[in-house]
Amino acid sequence: MADKDGGVDFVDPGIHGAKEKKHEPPHHHRDDRRADDHDEDVVADDKGDVVFPLFRRPLADFHTGGRSFGSGRAGGRLHAAVDLLAPFKAPIRAIADGRVIQPPYFFYLGSNALEIDHGDIGVVRYGEISQVKTVRVHTGQRVKKGEVIAYVGLLDTGSSMLHFELYKGNRSGALTVVSNPPYQRRSDLRNPTKLIERLLRKAF
Ligand SMILES: [Zn+2]
Repeated sequence: MADKDGGVDFVDPGIHGAKEKKHEPPHHHRDDRRADDHDEDVVADDKGDVVFPLFRRPLADFHTGGRSFGSGRAGGRLHAAVDLLAPFKAPIRAIADGRVIQPPYFFYLGSNALEIDHGDIGVVRYGEISQVKTVRVHTGQRVKKGEVIAYVGLLDTGSSMLHFELYKGNRSGALTVVSNPPYQRRSDLRNPTKLIERLLRKAF
C-alpha cells in the first residue's frame, strides 16, 4: 500500500510518514552558505530579506552569451555583471535595505548607474538605468528592500537591461578601475550569478 508521501510501506501510514511531515515547521529552512574570501561565487545568505531586482522575469537567460558574468568584451575586458534583459523603463527595485553610495551618474552608451551599499549582501551597482525616467535619490539616502530606485535604460544600441554588478564592499574607491584587468573593476568584485539565480527562483 502507498502512504500519503507516495512511498510504499507495510506500516500504517497514519502513524509514520504522513504524521511526521505534518509536524515539520513550515519556515525552518535557511540557506546558511556564507560569503567566503576563497569563493568568488557564493554570497551572503539572504534569509528572506533580499528580493530580485526586477518585478518580472528577465527576457533572456543571464547564463549565456554576452549577458553572463565573465563573457568577453572588446579589448580583452571581461563582463563584470549579469545582464537582466527587460523592457525600457521597467522598474528596478532595491534588492535589500541599503544606503545610496552614488546617486545616478553617466555609465554606458546613453545610460546611467547608481550604487547602493546593501550591508552584508555587499555593494550593488545597478547599471544601464534610464536617463529619462528617473528616481531622485541622494548620497547617504536609506532605501528599503523592494523600493523602486530606478528604471531600465535604453542603450544607444537599442537594447535594454539591468546590468547588475556585485561587490563585497570591503574596499573603497571607484568601482571601475580600468587598470585592473580583466574586469577593470575594483578588486572586491564578485560573481553575482548565484545570488541572482536564488532570487529569481524565489520570485517567480
Ligand atoms: Zn552588462
